[in-house]
Amino acid sequence: MLKPKTLKLYGLRNIDELPQLKNLSEKTRFALKVVSNILPFRTNNYVVEELIDWDNIPNDPIYQLTFMQKDMIDEESFSLMADALKRNNQSEIQTVAKQLRNKLNPHPSGQLTANIPLLEGNPVSGVQHKYKETVLVFPSSGQTCHAYCTFCFRWAQFVGDDSLKFATDESLRFQEYLKKHKEVTDILFTGGDPMIMSAAKLEAYILPLLQPEFRHIKNIRIGTKSISYWPYKYLTDKDSDRTLSIFEKVINAGKHLTIISHLNHYAELSTTAAVLAVQKIRNTGAVIRAQSPILRHINDIPDVWSTLWQMQVKNGIIPYYMFVERETGAKKYFEMPIFRAYNIFTEAFKKVSGLSKTVRGPVMSANPGKVLIDGISEINNEKVFVLKFIQARNPDWINKPFYAKFDPKATWLLQLEPAFGKSKFFYEDELEEILEERKIDLLAG
Ligand SMILES: *Cc1c(COP(=O)(O)O)cnc(C)c1O
Ligand code: SF4
Repeated sequence: MLKPKTLKLYGLRNIDELPQLKNLSEKTRFALKVVSNILPFRTNNYVVEELIDWDNIPNDPIYQLTFMQKDMIDEESFSLMADALKRNNQSEIQTVAKQLRNKLNPHPSGQLTANIPLLEGNPVSGVQHKYKETVLVFPSSGQTCHAYCTFCFRWAQFVGDDSLKFATDESLRFQEYLKKHKEVTDILFTGGDPMIMSAAKLEAYILPLLQPEFRHIKNIRIGTKSISYWPYKYLTDKDSDRTLSIFEKVINAGKHLTIISHLNHYAELSTTAAVLAVQKIRNTGAVIRAQSPILRHINDIPDVWSTLWQMQVKNGIIPYYMFVERETGAKKYFEMPIFRAYNIFTEAFKKVSGLSKTVRGPVMSANPGKVLIDGISEINNEKVFVLKFIQARNPDWINKPFYAKFDPKATWLLQLEPAFGKSKFFYEDELEEILEERKIDLLAG
């Protein structure tokens, strides 16, 4: 049997207690501290002891995934913070941190303004309702993680600035909202990582949804990186049995439960603890699906993806999405042109059987919707990206091919221009109307 492990978190405050830090040079350690004063840094004893290969620093993908690197912020920002640290003036460090964070686009894709629904004229905090059938819920106790990903697009939540935070209030008004919205079939608990919550907290969020007034909710999803960052959650933690029995209760109530697992690299499925956690979860009747952005320094190699998908299938996990990294935080360090993401996806896709081809990608989760880069083609002598919506603010936009001029530098939807001499993409006027309406609603609330 597996030896129990007690979670020990490491952050800026106690980083020097980390024995493995001695493997790093003085310069690397200082850079880690500089960047961690701007972007949130957190790792833990499982990640450090079982996932990272300390003989492969700095290239180890999990090291890149959890430890801040100098080049994750621009040189000017780096030296501003480095100088502040050298002067060791706390209030200066805080001021500089705030300034620099605001430069890093803390809320991409209009998250704070465009997707918050209203209930009786008042915004429902901690809820996003963008696509008709699915409501995202951000439990207030689930807004941290067992470790932080260096690329995280939700990083703003973790830096302790309340104006950047997004979470439900404790009154759970989101339930009232759901009762009134019978068109909603799917709830997606997300964060942060909802699986950081105790079993008791998790029950408070999930069990009420099993009551008859939520009959229209067919599918419950939990987005989590716990299989990668803390598999002991399902193995030897004090309340792991109680946690698993919540999953069983959802299944026994006749609902579907998907654990949307964030897996960036196959190394995350290579430990005994991770494999056992997957088995425990699947034994409850829950399904595990997996998604990840494509990231330089971590997984920008076709073989990493084909191996990742194959290991998912072998463990009973369904490959779900490959995303393009969003326009926030340390994006510059991780981003790549979308044509390259498409090529890596294609090379990996060629290597696997149909069981892995449930994955869709590369996908940009952008303001109008989830846009799939479906091909690179030449039409009437013009090289184009073939795009289509998998999800959209208006469902009528879905699954209809549209075309952008091929641009070898473009890394995001907003940089693309319509092909064939058109001035706008087909959805743009309508999108503007939809966003305009939402703004008026929000002001009225
Ligand atoms: C991705 C996403 C969803 C879920 O989309 P699926 O295709 O059903 O997985 C729901 N809401 C928002 C805001 C999203 O970004
Ligand atoms: S686990 Fe998810 S929410 Fe948490 S830091 Fe990583 S990407 Fe962000």
